[in-house]
Amino acid sequence: MSTTSIERPLDGRVALVTGASRGIGRAVAIALARQGARVAVNYVQNAQAAAEACAAIAAEGGRAVAVQADVSLAADVARLVAETRRQLGDVAILVNNAGIARLQSIEQATEDDWDAVIAANLKSVFLVTQAVLPAMRAGGWGRIVNLSSTAAQVGGIVGPHYAASKAGILGLTHFYASRLAGEGITVNAVAPGLIATDMGDGLGATAARIPVGRFGTAEEVADVVAMLARNGYLTGQTVSPNGGMYPT
Ligand code: NAP
Repeated sequence: MSTTSIERPLDGRVALVTGASRGIGRAVAIALARQGARVAVNYVQNAQAAAEACAAIAAEGGRAVAVQADVSLAADVARLVAETRRQLGDVAILVNNAGIARLQSIEQATEDDWDAVIAANLKSVFLVTQAVLPAMRAGGWGRIVNLSSTAAQVGGIVGPHYAASKAGILGLTHFYASRLAGEGITVNAVAPGLIATDMGDGLGATAARIPVGRFGTAEEVADVVAMLARNGYLTGQTVSPNGGMYPT
């Protein structure tokens, strides 16, 4: 093995990171590019932020393209995967990161809120995974990392729809991991605690109940995702960078 491949273990791989224009997804895209992957930076509306994330990767000598798509819509997902293939090649690393958080009480959450959160956070994971799996299976190598949350494990502070969507992601992770383990494809979940991003900062929470004493950073979560992208023997697991909030 050459020095280059040790330093850049994802050389030659194509990664698709959903919701990579901001926050955790942006940090994941940069971390994967630093390990050699060519990265599709998906976003839904913030084209400028997505372009800036791609520019940050290019400034370090990496390759990234921004692709707009609402990952809760099957037609958009088909276009996202086709466009990624056209510009970079078949997706070998998928990070299902895109998500929304509607901070709502038991009384506030409506049926429309439920449908919107489940579609953006959970249905999207099913849609994008289904869309990339044929090429991954044909290639006999793949890494799928799904962003869950402490909310899946303890309920959390956002709302019933959010907790259910993030717990559903764990079920999807277990299903795909068990079916695909023999095909060179690992599927894992990452369940962060409170992370300093637009979403995390918007929840009105303080660090008082976090044992480590502070919010996590997007880069600390990205570091875990990058490890899962490299490792071929860890599958069906949930890794929880949460500052000790919920020891697992
Ligand atoms: P964020 O700062 O709010 O960023 C959300 C990202 O998702 C943006 O890039 C946004 O794109 C994109 N997005 C939203 N809906 C989309 C859709 N329908 N289609 C495509 N892209 C979409 O969020 P974050 O804090 O980085 O969170 C990332 C993931 O980690 C989420 O799944 C979240 O639930 C999970 N998480 C976060 C925390 C936390 O404390 N921050 C804790 C646990 C888990 P635009 O820029 O175009 O809007």
